[in-house]
Amino acid sequence: MNRIRMFDYLGQYRTLQAEMQVALARVLESGQLILGPAGQRFEEDFAGFLGSDGQCVAVNSGTDALAVALRALDVGPGDEVITVANTAVPTVSAIRMTGATPVFCDVDADTALLDLNEVPRRLTPRTKAIIPVHLYGNAVDIPLLRQVVAGQGIKIIEDCAQAHGATFGGRMVGTMGDAGAFSFYPTKNLGAYGDGGLCFSADAELVRKMRMIRMYGFEGSYYAEIEGVNSRLDELQAAVLSVKLPHLAAWLAQRRELAAAYDRHLPASARHLRSGAGVGHAYHLYVVTVPERDRVRAELAQRGIDTGIHYPHPIHRMRGYSFLGYGEGSLPRTEALAPNLLSLPLYPELPVDDVLRVCEALSGILDRL
Ligand SMILES: *Cc1c(COP(=O)(O)O)cnc(C)c1O
Repeated sequence: MNRIRMFDYLGQYRTLQAEMQVALARVLESGQLILGPAGQRFEEDFAGFLGSDGQCVAVNSGTDALAVALRALDVGPGDEVITVANTAVPTVSAIRMTGATPVFCDVDADTALLDLNEVPRRLTPRTKAIIPVHLYGNAVDIPLLRQVVAGQGIKIIEDCAQAHGATFGGRMVGTMGDAGAFSFYPTKNLGAYGDGGLCFSADAELVRKMRMIRMYGFEGSYYAEIEGVNSRLDELQAAVLSVKLPHLAAWLAQRRELAAAYDRHLPASARHLRSGAGVGHAYHLYVVTVPERDRVRAELAQRGIDTGIHYPHPIHRMRGYSFLGYGEGSLPRTEALAPNLLSLPLYPELPVDDVLRVCEALSGILDRL
């Protein structure tokens, strides 16, 4: 029997190969490799995809997209930025890149998303921004979060690295906060053939600052108007992304169809994390909680089924972040979820029969625990 993998870009590449080679050759023959027409076109294309007034600033990674947005909002040393500890580490790296201090808020036990009820307790006079993470492609209720932090000058930067195409109340994630940050790491819902990222904002002044920051702080030539960094999406990756973007809606539909198949066939003892009313889930990952996760995972692997864990260790309990001083038990729901999380295979080209095979295997394993 074939091995069921978590991710395989080669199948998709083969369907795009001819178009991809034309697009790459066009860039190579244009004589322009950085900040040229391909990047500009992709920024416009992606703004079109988001379907909201505003502009995109393409950068080198999702981590940089968050860091550039934070910097543009003047977040720096002495400031606090609230986020969750069950996210990918880069959410926190981006906060630290500005010199600010991450403040962790617990998550909702059913959705694994930022617990909006707990946010007020994490606010201090130093709170400058909050990064809600649309984890797994599930969407945080940003309009409600706006109400929770209203009137306090706190900026909202949506971490959409796992959620291209997810919606809340019909609005695309990334368009509801002060800025949205996307990643085009190869495994994401829209992936480059290397690193890439993008910031979106409807605030023209913020966009202007983000454009300067990604290019050494330059506004004209060789003159730093403000302090900046080097974080640009190169022309080759931009061309790759423009070839892929027109397919994203169809890929999302396939992800949703596969997720619905999981919903129908999943055994009762494997619990899929819930999404709230109004959420259009983008299913970057299909994450369940199971008892005896490591044993279940090993037995699935024996049956030729790869799985993932997103993520095995909450960030506040990692050695690299022990200086933040969060002891065991400080985020009880985040900590309780981690040992049971299991990500099942899901990518647009995965055959639905493979989903059924995963559910059958999982059922058999859980029954015999
Ligand atoms: C992937 C990811 C990032 C970082 O994106 P990179 O492009 O790898 O830098 C940030 N946040 C979340 C939630 C992610 O999944």
